[in-house]
Amino acid sequence: MKLGLFSDVHSNLEALKAVLAVFKDAGVTRYVCCGDIIGYGPDPNKCVELVRGLKPLCVAGNHDYGLVGRTPTSGFNQSALQALDWTREQITRTNRLYLENLPLTERMNQLFVVHAAPSEPADWPYLLSLHEAEEEMDYYAETVCLVGHSHYPFAVERVPGEPAHFIRQESFEVRPAAKYIINLGSVGQPRDGDPRAACMVYNLRANTMMFHRVAYDVAAAQKKIRAAGLPDYLASRLAAGR
Ligand code: ZN
Repeated sequence: MKLGLFSDVHSNLEALKAVLAVFKDAGVTRYVCCGDIIGYGPDPNKCVELVRGLKPLCVAGNHDYGLVGRTPTSGFNQSALQALDWTREQITRTNRLYLENLPLTERMNQLFVVHAAPSEPADWPYLLSLHEAEEEMDYYAETVCLVGHSHYPFAVERVPGEPAHFIRQESFEVRPAAKYIINLGSVGQPRDGDPRAACMVYNLRANTMMFHRVAYDVAAAQKKIRAAGLPDYLASRLAAGR
C-alpha cells in the first residue's frame, strides 16, 4: 500500500490537482493531510471538497481553525488575515463544518500527524532547526511524526546512539528502530525557493518515503488570486516559491 502525504494546500486548486495526479501515477490508495487546506488562495471550496473526497487522515492547521474561530488570528499577517476574511465569506456550511471538526492530532500505525508540532499542537510553533525538530521527538511514541506549517520540506532522523541529522536524499528507508520528524512542505504555497508543489509518497511495503516536487500552472493560480481581489503579494510569491 502507498500513502500520499501532503500539507498546506492553501486553497491552491491547480497545485492540489497536480499533486493528486502524481499520487495517482504512484499508485497511492490512502492519504494523510497535515492541515491548512484553506487560506491565502482563491479556491477554498473546491480544495476542501477535493480533500474531503480522498477521505484522508487529516488534522487542522492554524488557518483552518482560524477560519472557524477555534484559534486566535492575532498572530496572522495582514495578507493572511485579508485572505481569511475573504474565505469566510466564500466557504460553504458543509466545508466549514469539515474544517471545524478536524482534530489537532491523529495517529495511524507508526505515524503521528500534527500541523505544527507534537509538543504544543494548539500553539502552532515553527520547527526550523535540527535542534527544534529533535526536541519534538520526545512528544510522540510512533516512529514517524508528519508535520507541515513552515512550508519548508525536511526529514530528520535519529538512530539510537547517534545524533539526529537531516536526511539529504530524496528517497529514504524508514528504519523501525529510528525516530523521524518529517515536514511535508506545502502543496499550495512553497517557501523554500522552489515554486513547485511539494508532497511525499510513503511505500508501506518497502518502508520507504520519497519527496516529490510537482510543477503546476502557477500563472492560472495567480490569475485567480488577482481576480478574487486578494492581495497581489499572495500571487507574486507563488512564482518565486517564497
Ligand atoms: Zn500553512
